[in-house]
Amino acid sequence: MKKFPAPAPFLKQEKMKLKNTEAILITPGKMEIKDAPVPVPKDDEVLLKVEYVGMCGSDIHGFANGPFIPPKDPNQKIGLGHECAGTIVEVGSKVKNFKVGDRVCIEPGVPCGHCRYCLSGHYNICPDVDFLATQPNYRGALTNYINHPEAFTYKLPDNMTTFEGALVEPAAVGVHAAMEADIKPGKKIIILGAGCIGLMTLQACKAMGAVDITVSDVIDKRLDFAKKLGASRVVNGKDKDALKDDQNSFDVVFETAGNPITAAQTTSLVIRGGRIMIVGTIPGDTPVNFLKINREVKIQTVFRYANNFPMTIEAISSGRFDVKSMVTDVYNYEDVQRAFEESISRKAEIIKSVIKVS
Ligand SMILES: [Zn+2]
Ligand SMILES: [Zn+2]
Repeated sequence: MKKFPAPAPFLKQEKMKLKNTEAILITPGKMEIKDAPVPVPKDDEVLLKVEYVGMCGSDIHGFANGPFIPPKDPNQKIGLGHECAGTIVEVGSKVKNFKVGDRVCIEPGVPCGHCRYCLSGHYNICPDVDFLATQPNYRGALTNYINHPEAFTYKLPDNMTTFEGALVEPAAVGVHAAMEADIKPGKKIIILGAGCIGLMTLQACKAMGAVDITVSDVIDKRLDFAKKLGASRVVNGKDKDALKDDQNSFDVVFETAGNPITAAQTTSLVIRGGRIMIVGTIPGDTPVNFLKINREVKIQTVFRYANNFPMTIEAISSGRFDVKSMVTDVYNYEDVQRAFEESISRKAEIIKSVIKVS
């Protein structure tokens, strides 16, 4: 029988043909797609062909105003995007759990692994976390190929698409918020803000057994979505009296709008001994009357997520968590500039946008 030579390792052979580009923020308000080298994965990294990238509020803020934390080097190249899924095209020599062809999503923050926060499991608050599209490297997921450590890469189940995979990250924010709030059946909950993170928090609370969930926003389209995704009641915050009979009645109040006005509302909505969860990024100062909440109310801020990508993936794959129907807009990678512009001009209509990279 004729013997065929062993095939060369996939990428060693194919790599020469790969072509990479990345979407770069040239100045606030202007993105451009530029040629870039194909990254070479380190021993413990995988190389991903990026398929979908979700657009996050922080990306849109970065597009409009430049990064939250400006780079020290004025010539720093700035990428955007951190909600990302795709297919592995190469693995580093020490990678054990992945192979070429695996469909994965990535957790975009890679912490130092040895500070007190990392060691206590709160690696989301590691001061040296390297998070995509922010300091120190400003490396964005809006690119054709990206390297990522195996330890922060997660395989997608067969019944989950990479489109859903790109939405694991914002879903994990909701899961983390609900877990930190110790949501259980029987708790009465209100979520202020029905944007992407508010709706993710709603679904996480539901998945954890809560039934009585009120969602408030000022945009009716978002409230319709909240209803569809299982809110027991929705209220439009424009109606001043909408929550008149709900003073001091909620076990848990989530602020997800990132707004000082809703943040200030939390103290009059929470019950004695209840919890206020600050999930949104609230600019400026919010006056708090501590006398109003001096009956053992807990106030907690929530930052990203830690250790909950696997359960978030399971929640989506099992159908308890619907991320797909939250996507109102899909853009092609070539239209990245328009995608960002419309995220601003059509803000009220868009729940979640996703960019199809390949
Ligand atoms: Zn995000
Ligand atoms: Zn650390």
